[in-house]
Amino acid sequence: MKYHLVTLGCAKNTVDSMRLEQALRTGRHTAVTAPEEADLLLVNTCGFIDAAKDESVAVVRALDAARRADQRLYVVGCMTQIAEDEVRAAVPNVDATFGVEHWDEIAASIGAASETYDIPAVALPVFGAPSAYLKISDGCDRPCTFCIIPTIKGAMHSAPVSRLLAEARMYAAAGAKELVLVAQDSTAYLEDAGGRDGLAALLEELSAGVPEVPWIRLMYAYPGRVTARLAEAMAALPNVVPYLDMPLQHGSEAVLRRMKRPTLAHSHRSIETVRRAIPEVTLRSTFIVGFPGETEAEFRDLLRFVEEQRIDHVGAFTYSPQAGTPAASGPDQVPEPVKQERYGRLMTLAQGISHASNRGQVGREVDVLIESREPGRSASGGEMVIGRTVRDAPEVDGLALVKGAYQMGSMVRVRVDGALPYDLLCTPVTIPVTPTPGALARP
Ligand code: SF4
Repeated sequence: MKYHLVTLGCAKNTVDSMRLEQALRTGRHTAVTAPEEADLLLVNTCGFIDAAKDESVAVVRALDAARRADQRLYVVGCMTQIAEDEVRAAVPNVDATFGVEHWDEIAASIGAASETYDIPAVALPVFGAPSAYLKISDGCDRPCTFCIIPTIKGAMHSAPVSRLLAEARMYAAAGAKELVLVAQDSTAYLEDAGGRDGLAALLEELSAGVPEVPWIRLMYAYPGRVTARLAEAMAALPNVVPYLDMPLQHGSEAVLRRMKRPTLAHSHRSIETVRRAIPEVTLRSTFIVGFPGETEAEFRDLLRFVEEQRIDHVGAFTYSPQAGTPAASGPDQVPEPVKQERYGRLMTLAQGISHASNRGQVGREVDVLIESREPGRSASGGEMVIGRTVRDAPEVDGLALVKGAYQMGSMVRVRVDGALPYDLLCTPVTIPVTPTPGALARP
């Protein structure tokens, strides 16, 4: 059967879609890029906030409206897990709905032979970029009052080290140059099995298991849980990049308390721990603006925190109530215009810090992982490709703009000539090391 899969939402959902594709391909089903060529239309939805639900419904509606009578339409993932009735009400003709992690059931429902979650020994690579995501655990046990994830995904459960190693080796064999470790809370890895410092041990296993992958990147650390053991492992392992993403959510003690998040002392301690072990570390964090009851003084605490800590990459969201969470029904909801105004102030500050951090790179020689499929043209007419340095994670951080034409997946040594607020302008300094032709998976 031919299937067309649309993936919405975050990087973790992208990994879920890769698992779904593995189940489908194991059942000998084939992906097609044009929906009209498919026998089965699949939408892996996001239900994290209302805007994401609206987008999910809009995509399902559009596919439903355009499909032929003989095409099946399945809606799966986060939104169907928590709000299947809303999907059904909006698009009554959907043929089937599945919640999260039912990938093998989906494959089985269309006659697939897949019977296991384990990665098949000769699974086909299902990614088309030089970076691949490894979802090391799913679910979450934290009590954050704004978040619906624990309701959607349930308790935290870690993937076995052996499976992650097999998955990493599969991506390495397919030409991946970067593995990005994701989870709801990566620092809790293996705690469900009673382990301590499971993440540090996993990094050591991965580093040794796929030494040919030059970049292993860690996302979604939890404040207060970055131990000295973890930071020292990151510092010591040659292919674990000096980069840490740690969502801190706010810089006001009172707001953090209302969010049921770790205290500011935990945030400070984790930042100090990682900077002590890796002085050149690049830090990324995300913050929520306009949480219920956020006063102007509390918002300024957030600005002060971001300024003092010089967080290299800041992502911000205006608070969006999620039905079923304690904060959604709380008093003192912040008016939308106030949220937007504060968001603008935070991002202006963050942009200045990012720009200064980028200026500090000018004159340095660094490696850039090329992500462009085809070269483009710069304003002056010369060829140019896009990539990233170790300081930038895929999809969420800045880019490196490199003069010349290089194959996707090349690691190119460049000199940084200029700094934009988020991106770097670079000139190659060596002949590029290109991968073996055909070594990179292409969709
Ligand atoms: S740690 Fe992250 S996923 Fe878990 S409840 Fe808090 S915000 Fe949600």
